[in-house]
Amino acid sequence: MKTNLLDLDGAGLTRFFADMGEKPFRARQLKRWMHRFGEADFSRMTDIAKPLREKLAATAEVRAPQVVHDSISADGTRKWLIGVDVANAVEAVFIPEEDRGTLCVSTQAGCALDCAFCSTGKQGFNRNLEVSEIIGQLWLANRALGHDPKGERIISNVVLMGMGEPLANFDNTVAALRIMLDDDAYGLSRRRVTLSTAGMVPQIDRLAEACPVALAVSLHAPNNKLRDALVPLNRKWPLEVLLPACRRYLDYAPRDFVTFEYVMLDGINDRPEQAFELIELVSEVPCKFNLIPFNPFPGSEFRRSPMETIRRFGGILNEAGIVTTTRKTRGDDIDAACGQLAGDIEDKTRRQSPASARRRSIPIVEVSR
Ligand code: SAH
Repeated sequence: MKTNLLDLDGAGLTRFFADMGEKPFRARQLKRWMHRFGEADFSRMTDIAKPLREKLAATAEVRAPQVVHDSISADGTRKWLIGVDVANAVEAVFIPEEDRGTLCVSTQAGCALDCAFCSTGKQGFNRNLEVSEIIGQLWLANRALGHDPKGERIISNVVLMGMGEPLANFDNTVAALRIMLDDDAYGLSRRRVTLSTAGMVPQIDRLAEACPVALAVSLHAPNNKLRDALVPLNRKWPLEVLLPACRRYLDYAPRDFVTFEYVMLDGINDRPEQAFELIELVSEVPCKFNLIPFNPFPGSEFRRSPMETIRRFGGILNEAGIVTTTRKTRGDDIDAACGQLAGDIEDKTRRQSPASARRRSIPIVEVSR
């Protein structure tokens, strides 16, 4: 079996070359070729001596996952369905904005958390993604999108907000983050990389030590009773342990606030008194709120809060001094909006309803290796 070099972060590559009896600067050369220039063919890595290139070709490879389907929304949002093995495909979404280009990356094939309002959760869970499959999404998207006329990369920001719970795939997610931040690879600033979690408390603390990036936490409810119902993970790490973890994280974070995501569900969590309850709840945590209008999917049991309700809810938070924005719904015509990513997952938890099983409509091409 060849070593896939896309699975290795800087330290891993240095070790790989040390095992071959090669110097550490080889790792740097490889990172540049693979990640900066998107090169997968060793024979084109011209500043590496030919015998070493041949040795590499014999023992290693640069293998990204394969794009199975590529769709572009009317608003410019682009979604790639990426086959990670013969049974599973995940999704990555590019969201162009005036001042930045954001890639939304998946970390698991499916998701085990089963949040009540999320399409990914309804698909069930298959497995964690490998480092090469996480960073491979950025690798592929960069190859597809390239640079602007000034030579800047089109993708300026990455959010780990696609399919899966990134902190449940901790080691691979951290290795992928390190590659994103590495100056010889993608050179993204910590402030432009955001990890979103449903609230895995011990792993929030571990992330602070291992690789602090901007943190978003999916809050969605102002009290345990409602949050237990919407985000089942809350039963394990309830609000009274989650919020102190958010505060602790800020001692390490590249930003001085945590972003709380809050999906707006009509008649469920969008009443003014719930906004006041939230203000009380987060009073000890420097934070911003990002309200996400609920995005429906086939079989979903919730409705999106009316725009006026969302405006009023956000107004109450803003009034209390909490900066609150409402996430624009992007790419919903191609099912690329938050919570709509379903990919094509062979469920191992038998959670799929017959309705969602029927949605497995995109043919998976055999991935030849
Ligand atoms: N597991 C991580 C990463 C997923 S991020 C987390 O929970 O944070 C995706 C974001 O979209 C989360 O805030 C999630 O709660 C939200 N979301 C899920 N389903 C949604 C839907 N149907 N409409 C709008 N937002 C949704």
